[in-house]
Amino acid sequence: MQRLGIMGGTFDPIHYGHLLMAEEARQAFALDQVVFVPNGRPAHKKAYLVSSPEDRYAMTLLATGSNPCFSCSRIEIERPGPSYTIDTLRAFRRIYPDLDALYFITGADAVLEILTWHEYDHLVRECRFIAVTRPGFVLERLSAVVDAEFLDRVSFLPIPGLEISSTDIRRRVREGRSVKYLTPEPVEAYIEQQGLYRPLPMMPAEHPPALEVPVYSEETPEGLKNRP
Ligand code: ATP
Ligand code: MG
Repeated sequence: MQRLGIMGGTFDPIHYGHLLMAEEARQAFALDQVVFVPNGRPAHKKAYLVSSPEDRYAMTLLATGSNPCFSCSRIEIERPGPSYTIDTLRAFRRIYPDLDALYFITGADAVLEILTWHEYDHLVRECRFIAVTRPGFVLERLSAVVDAEFLDRVSFLPIPGLEISSTDIRRRVREGRSVKYLTPEPVEAYIEQQGLYRPLPMMPAEHPPALEVPVYSEETPEGLKNRP
């Protein structure tokens, strides 16, 4: 394999926005393979409970299976401790020592957060970044806030805007609304079969729910909305 793209995300659940951006990046940058890497323990998503890594990995597999240029990796799921992208990139470099190019694919909302990621100084030298457009987020202001070295490592890629988010899908399921055409059918079926994102059943008053009930607080602080 010569040219590899890494598509990191929480994928809770994976949706057509993720699939489109990966495919657009693959084509625009002549990537041989895009590897989807679901986060194990998202370092930036402690604020709310995330579905189990196995559920998120299963949905990622289901969504990507029909594209021969897509694959999924368990690398972050298997690694203990918080998920840091730098560790993942180094691992891919070890697995594929002869790579011609390594790209990390990210959305317009997440690209700024890279500045806050673990070992940022090393991270920017380990790979190049593809920042795709996302409805509601502007890429233009990026050049005003990041240093020249980082800018030099980022390529901007306009893609057709799909205003889809995992947050919205979770909310829809919780409210009993359809998620059809937002995510591939096998993912929709998996969510249904596994009962993901449903509201918790009412507990009898004499058995109040424990404090750690997995209520989705959907609004993570702005700027901390994504992984790794
Ligand atoms: P959540 O709402 O839970 O944050 P999400 O839809 O943002 O979920 P993530 O798993 O957080 O999905 O995102 C993984 C990557 O995909 C991020 O780089 C994010 O910017 C990008 N991304 C997600 N959805 C889109 C979209 N519709 N268009 C462009 N980029 C997207
Ligand atoms: Mg996100």
